[in-house]
Amino acid sequence: MLLPKALEKIIAELETLPGIGPRSATRLAYFLLRAPDQVAFSLAQSLKDIKQQIKTCKRCYNYSEDEICLICRSSERDQTQLMIVEDPLDVVAFERIGKYKGVYHVLGGVMSPLNGIGPEEIRIKELLTRINQEKFNEIIIATNPNLEGESTALYLKKEIEKSHPDMKIT
Ligand SMILES: [Zn+2]
Repeated sequence: MLLPKALEKIIAELETLPGIGPRSATRLAYFLLRAPDQVAFSLAQSLKDIKQQIKTCKRCYNYSEDEICLICRSSERDQTQLMIVEDPLDVVAFERIGKYKGVYHVLGGVMSPLNGIGPEEIRIKELLTRINQEKFNEIIIATNPNLEGESTALYLKKEIEKSHPDMKIT
């Protein structure tokens, strides 16, 4: 194709996004080209902002703009109820439902011996430290219901029970 270089470049870049094939990439590129400057510039700025401004919450390891995220800092959240999830996307899913009012701990994956991911590779040490330091009444393990998720949940339950035999774990 003899497209202007800048167009070819953005099409190629959009194609690397998940779920975007060549046709969608081309459509998006032309949409952005024809859109008002403000629409395209705002999108460019948002891309820059998420890369520059978003870090990891020092307490729960969810994404955050500050050292400690909004959920961890909220007085409306039950700070004694802890939900353990695999990924920040799981937090989004539970927040969309809007029923859970406790706080989270993001593991950043699950244990997967076949892929060389042991307890050291995900944030289990940080989790156990938190459970020792904070006053949780209930811990909900919400890893995915597959083999790796289930075995990680079992491992976590055992580890937590070693130091907190009376903890309510669901
Ligand atoms: Zn947090």
